[in-house]
Amino acid sequence: HFITFEGGEGAGKSTQIVRLKAFLESFGKSVIVTREPGGSPGAEKIRSMLLSGGAKDLGPRGEAMLFAAARADHVDVTIKPALERGDWVLCDRYADSTRVYQGEAGVDQDYLKLLETAAIAGLHPDMTILIDVPPEIGLSRVAKRSESDESGGPDRFEDEAVAVHERRRKLFLQLALEEAYRFTIVDGSRDEDFTEQAVRKAVLEAFSGDLVD
Ligand code: C5P
Repeated sequence: HFITFEGGEGAGKSTQIVRLKAFLESFGKSVIVTREPGGSPGAEKIRSMLLSGGAKDLGPRGEAMLFAAARADHVDVTIKPALERGDWVLCDRYADSTRVYQGEAGVDQDYLKLLETAAIAGLHPDMTILIDVPPEIGLSRVAKRSESDESGGPDRFEDEAVAVHERRRKLFLQLALEEAYRFTIVDGSRDEDFTEQAVRKAVLEAFSGDLVD
C-alpha cells in the first residue's frame, strides 16, 4: 500500500506520518517512511541542492526536471522495492506537490504532466491524505520550529509571501476534488491528536480489510 501525504508548510505531515506508522505497526504491518524531494541516496543529493538554493541558476522548467529526476530515483530505488516486499509506504510529498508548487510557480501543466508520467513510471498512490491548513497557522508553526532549530530559519521555499501559500492551498484543494477517488482531506488546523484521529479514520475506511488478517 502506497499512501502519500500532501499539504502546505507547517501542515504537520511529518508528525502524522510518524503516528500513522506506529498505528499500522500495531497491526503487525511493516512500514517504511520516506519523503520528497529525496528518499533515496541520489534523490537526497538533489534535495540538498534544491533546498539550499544550489539550483537557483536554473529556470523553473529546469528545476521541475530536477524534482522529476529525484522522484524517478526515489520510485526505483526505494518505493517500488518496498511495495514489492509487501511493506506499507508512507511518503511525505509526491507528484501532487510538483503539480502544485511548480504549477503555482508558472510551469506549464502539460510539461509537468510529461515529467510526472516519466518520473513515476505508473506508480500512483493508493491514497493521498491532504492535510489542509490555513497559511497563517502553518506559517506560524514553521516560525516556531525554526526558532528552536539551531540549523537556522526556513529553507528557501518556506520564506515566501502568504499569497503564494494561499494559492498553493487552493491548488491542493482543487486537485483533491478532481481526483477525489484517491484523496482524503483532513483538517490540520486543530491539534495533533485531532488530526491523527482523522487520518486513522480515513485509513481504516480505505484499508480495514487489509489491516486485520
Ligand atoms: O515541507 P517539506 O519539508 O515537505 O518541504 C520541502 C520543501 O520543498 C518545501 O518547502 C516545499 O516548498 C518545496 N517543494 C517544492 N516543490 C516540490 C516539493 C517540495 O518546491 N515539488
